[in-house]
Amino acid sequence: MTSLEKIIHLTTQSEYDCMGDEGRIFDGIDLSKVDVLGQGTKHDICTSSSTKRIVNQNEALGYVTRSGICHSFTANGRCVSMFKTLFTNYCTHDCKYCQNSTEFKRNKTIYSYTPEELARITISLYKGNYIEGLFLSSGISSDENLTTEKMLETLKILKEKYNFAGYIHFKVLPGVSYEYIKQASEMADRLSVNIETPSNNYLSELSSTKNYVKDILKRQYYIKKLEIKKELPAGQTTQLVVGACGESDFDIFKRVLKEYEEMMLKRVYYSVFNPVPGTSLEDINAQPTWREHRLYQMDWLYRVYSFSEKEIKIAFDEEGFLNNKDPKLYIALNTLDSGVDPNEASYDELLRVPGIGPKSAYRIVNYRKKNKIYKREQLQNLGVRTKNATPFLKINGTEYSRIDRWIECQTQ
Ligand code: SF4
Repeated sequence: MTSLEKIIHLTTQSEYDCMGDEGRIFDGIDLSKVDVLGQGTKHDICTSSSTKRIVNQNEALGYVTRSGICHSFTANGRCVSMFKTLFTNYCTHDCKYCQNSTEFKRNKTIYSYTPEELARITISLYKGNYIEGLFLSSGISSDENLTTEKMLETLKILKEKYNFAGYIHFKVLPGVSYEYIKQASEMADRLSVNIETPSNNYLSELSSTKNYVKDILKRQYYIKKLEIKKELPAGQTTQLVVGACGESDFDIFKRVLKEYEEMMLKRVYYSVFNPVPGTSLEDINAQPTWREHRLYQMDWLYRVYSFSEKEIKIAFDEEGFLNNKDPKLYIALNTLDSGVDPNEASYDELLRVPGIGPKSAYRIVNYRKKNKIYKREQLQNLGVRTKNATPFLKINGTEYSRIDRWIECQTQ
């Protein structure tokens, strides 16, 4: 019995029948299907969400880490568990990295839900307090609109028949019509369409069937229109596969800027390339996970710390790659020539010091209205990570040496 089967078994014991060699069946649904379609979304990322929808604290759920269940965090830091699944693993596209692709060389069983089946499974997990929401993606049959119709039908059944009020993240399929995206926005909290690569040239290396502008960017623009009309509580996000086709981090950064500025995205997610056995890219080396981590840090500098494009560019080497160092530290080492005085520096200047984040910068600015900062302990009490910050500060006239900064850099 797989982990997801166990959850369903525990949740609905009275309805569960073990059928021996014929497979495990829950309420007429083959549980192998539940497991395979749950596993099929493991590269789709949704680790953060920022819906304005209030979820009743009395409905707090237990913590589970299982295949098919993922966790997102709301803007206030609360963890939300979601049932993450494909509607079908049948797909007519040929993306070289994907196990659902037409290029996949191994035998696989094709599964599809009916809308009623998927709604029943979701509501069982929801009633059992294992999930608070649904993350619904899918392979794409010959017509993306037909597949989307079935996904939307699932949401309708969930909401109208079962009164489901949980969080919904709905994947918009490449090429789907505006009318279907609009219908999805009326039922889902968040929509996303994966851009996968930073440009059309890179996408064409990975897929001959998807068009970057027509199938993806145009759909993002449709979602943006709906967001402007306030029809989407948690906005739109997207995801990139990092390093599947030789693109540099700077190529990714340039695309990400456009995503935030032109498409009004809430978040971009990065999924480092890992070859899947049986796909056309199975012999390509996996990318190091630190690459994904450094891209998230770069993203954070832009989105949360409001670093300019010009400042962030400093973190890339001549070939356009980030090195395996905290980009904020790297930028500070290359720009902060003299110590920053916490009594004099502006909020923005403080934010550029490693070890000082938005909260601690804000606290320093407030604290110094009535107090003078003359020792490190005061900063520590205000939430500053003094181990990282001290080599870049001038406190009470004392500036720390370059060798300290160098050591700090080496120990990150
Ligand atoms: S469209 Fe999606 S599911 Fe289909 S092959 Fe490409 S990545 Fe896989």
